[in-house]
Amino acid sequence: ASPSESSTQPTPMMAQYLALKAEARDCLLFYRMGDFFELFFDDARMAAATLDIALTSRGEHEGQPIPMCGVPAHSAESYLARLIRSGHRVAIAEQTETPAQAKARGGKALVARAIVRYVTAGTLTEETLLDSRSDNLLVALAQVGGDGSGEVGIAAADISTGRFETMCCPISDLAAELARLRPSETVVAEGSTFDLPDCHPFDRAAFSSARAEEALRRLFGVTTLDGFGQFGRAELAAMGGLVAYLDHAGKGTLPFLAPPLRKANGAHVAIDAATRESLEIVATTGGTRAGSLLHAIDRTVTGAGARLLAQDLSAPLLDLPLIEARLGLVQMVHDEPGLRDQLRGALRSLPDIGRALGRVAVGRGSPRDLGQLRDGLGEARLLRERLGRLPDMPPLLAQLLPALDGHGALVDALTRALVPAPPTETGNGGYIADGFDPALDELRRMAGDGRRAIAALEAKYREQTGISSLKIRHNGVLGYHVEVPARAADALMAADSGFTHRQTLAGVVRFNSIDLHEEAGRVAQAGAHALVAEAAHLETLIEAVLDRKSDIARAADALARLDVAAALAERAAEGGWTRPHFVAADGAGQCLDIVGGRHPVVEDALRREGQPFVANDCRLSESDRLWLVTGPNMGGKSTFLRQNALIVILAQAGGYVPAGSATLTLVDRLFSRVGASDNLAKGRSTFMVEMVETAAILAQATERSFVILDEVGRGTSTYDGLALAWAVVEAVHEVNRCRCLFATHYHELTRLAETLPSLSLHHVRAREWKGDLVLLHELAEGPADRSYGLAVARLAGLPPAVLRRAKDVLARLEAGKAKTGGIAAGLDDLPLFAAAAAQEEEKADPLLAAIDAIDADALSPREALDHIYRLKQLV
Ligand code: ADP
Repeated sequence: ASPSESSTQPTPMMAQYLALKAEARDCLLFYRMGDFFELFFDDARMAAATLDIALTSRGEHEGQPIPMCGVPAHSAESYLARLIRSGHRVAIAEQTETPAQAKARGGKALVARAIVRYVTAGTLTEETLLDSRSDNLLVALAQVGGDGSGEVGIAAADISTGRFETMCCPISDLAAELARLRPSETVVAEGSTFDLPDCHPFDRAAFSSARAEEALRRLFGVTTLDGFGQFGRAELAAMGGLVAYLDHAGKGTLPFLAPPLRKANGAHVAIDAATRESLEIVATTGGTRAGSLLHAIDRTVTGAGARLLAQDLSAPLLDLPLIEARLGLVQMVHDEPGLRDQLRGALRSLPDIGRALGRVAVGRGSPRDLGQLRDGLGEARLLRERLGRLPDMPPLLAQLLPALDGHGALVDALTRALVPAPPTETGNGGYIADGFDPALDELRRMAGDGRRAIAALEAKYREQTGISSLKIRHNGVLGYHVEVPARAADALMAADSGFTHRQTLAGVVRFNSIDLHEEAGRVAQAGAHALVAEAAHLETLIEAVLDRKSDIARAADALARLDVAAALAERAAEGGWTRPHFVAADGAGQCLDIVGGRHPVVEDALRREGQPFVANDCRLSESDRLWLVTGPNMGGKSTFLRQNALIVILAQAGGYVPAGSATLTLVDRLFSRVGASDNLAKGRSTFMVEMVETAAILAQATERSFVILDEVGRGTSTYDGLALAWAVVEAVHEVNRCRCLFATHYHELTRLAETLPSLSLHHVRAREWKGDLVLLHELAEGPADRSYGLAVARLAGLPPAVLRRAKDVLARLEAGKAKTGGIAAGLDDLPLFAAAAAQEEEKADPLLAAIDAIDADALSPREALDHIYRLKQLV
């Protein structure tokens, strides 16, 4: 409501607040009042509930009390963290002048305030608000034309490190790309039609490719963007939106962004959102890191390494030379005696220089950040020397090492200028080293002399007054003062005592004196000058850092890559993993030949319970592309399917794999689908979801893809389910021709082996022993000899009476099946899928056949007319 409409005029402060709030729009407004940030109205209600702090009120607005809550400014970060995590966005309004300055402006002028920045999930740089081991991405999306079809431009940036990447993809792949990036915040142009939850609309004009080019050229100080790659208009528009949004959030302070890395379409394995979720690559279905593939293999020792490992696993490569380059580095660290420990030991003490640089670049760098850059870059130089001495350097290492070099001058400057452990706060100074600046040393000496003189005064006054408990103290209000117990104060109260009374408290009385005042003045002045001098040095050092920001970012990236390689080597050594072997597809065709494969997450879980994991082979080849896996529930089918998909991911991310050996041709797309009943908790029409997802596989899987299908068809009635599963297996075999593992409890499907030449049958073994079911978790050839449903039910503790009854029913069903041939009885004369398709074509529409037969390029207008008459007769 506009304040002017109210009967009672708002106070000047409220008017200022309302203006700022109007600017902050949907953000909570943190309004600085002295040592607190205050929130009012609905903001206060919301924040008080989220933060669990007291909601009070202050004054009135339009006749109603104004709800208010506040947080202390010095601990605002932790409150911000909680608000951001629960989905809020915050605008910070600071006082932009001191009360004294306001007074000087005239009368009772209100202290000026302005929004200095917006804090949103995607624009954080504070150490305390970020997870050191996860990226924090802001993503902007743009579509040229905006008709809801066509290409989408994606720009993604982590402003805490400067990582900046862009890509362009068809709208149908957008969900998959977002699932890979896992953005903390997504912005789109106001009024755009993306069908996504949690998109933040932002100034439409910013998402224009022309404006974007201009902004990017300015940001990177180049005259053309050509050096960064060829960007499409949608990509440029997305980058433009992203940069403009950052500019808005920082109120004109742009963060450090590395030159945009253009991800070519098809640079990495296509993995859709459903597959990511089902394989639990970097997070489990429940959203936790524990239980994911990433968690099971993450042996990185730096935050930057952990972030890069998550990126690698999210985007396995399709470029064989790049994969081999990563593997070469892992192998060197793995094989070279002692190197792994040495490298990880050195990396472990590394500060996060990427994030320190990010804070410095947005103007929130502290002396501690500079200290981290000094230590990190110094350590990088040592590492470079050590690694540079290695014989037989793999190409990737040779490529990384130069990035660790060349920071010597900066490191030296920081070393000379800073104390060994610089503080985060600048307010008290003390971060510039002694001996760096003679003028500063002199100021410090003067302040020190003053403090010593004050200490000497204390002794002198005690003697002079005879009050042994007399003390000279210092506080923010009075500054230096003399303090005596109340009972001894009378002597100092006398007019000629040389002391002036300042304050009487319950038990003590406080005084000032001329000498003390003078010394205190000297201390304060020298101290203030010293602070100014230190701040000036800080400024210079920050400039020196920013001059080299791109090189520092490159060093940070190189260190992260080394950490990832060392981590993968460490994990491989722990588990006895092997280097995957890639072969070219030409000639022999596609293969996925894994001997003695294991599931890293399940294996870890079993080990904690003291259980062994049974390794299994997966030997898919051109002539044996599709394995149908049957066997009892809990027998290990899902585990087997997934472990092979995870091995593909690890291998193409450039890591060793949990297997005795692994030979494969590159996988271009990876799909994993789980039959509906595992997802029942989600409450959607899960069978519908299952079918939509299966349709996506049939539409997209190529001969180079790898697909795992786990109990697909389970989400509906037996007949429907079997029929669908049957048709899906046939289509995968005949049309997609991808490598595929298909787990099913439909025993009837095993009959497909008779007609599909590249399909073979496998089962997880089980035995009944003394009436109990023993699951061996071992894969064997051939169909399962029987279904162990009842035995599994006994294992699960179904009451004996129910089990007996089930046995009776089963006996009758089986007797009936013997008579009728069971539910698959009608399938004996089912024509082949491909044959069915061929028949379909024969029966094809004569109209279409006639159209097809016309050679349009060879027609005269007269002949064309004749054709049209003939075609009309066919209708
Ligand atoms: P299914 O898909 O056949 O129902 P799962 O793959 O879900 O079976 O496996 C069920 C359980 O069996 C797992 O949680 C795990 O504890 C155990 N298991 C699976 N595979 C193995 C294996 N290869 N070795 C040892 N235990 C296994």
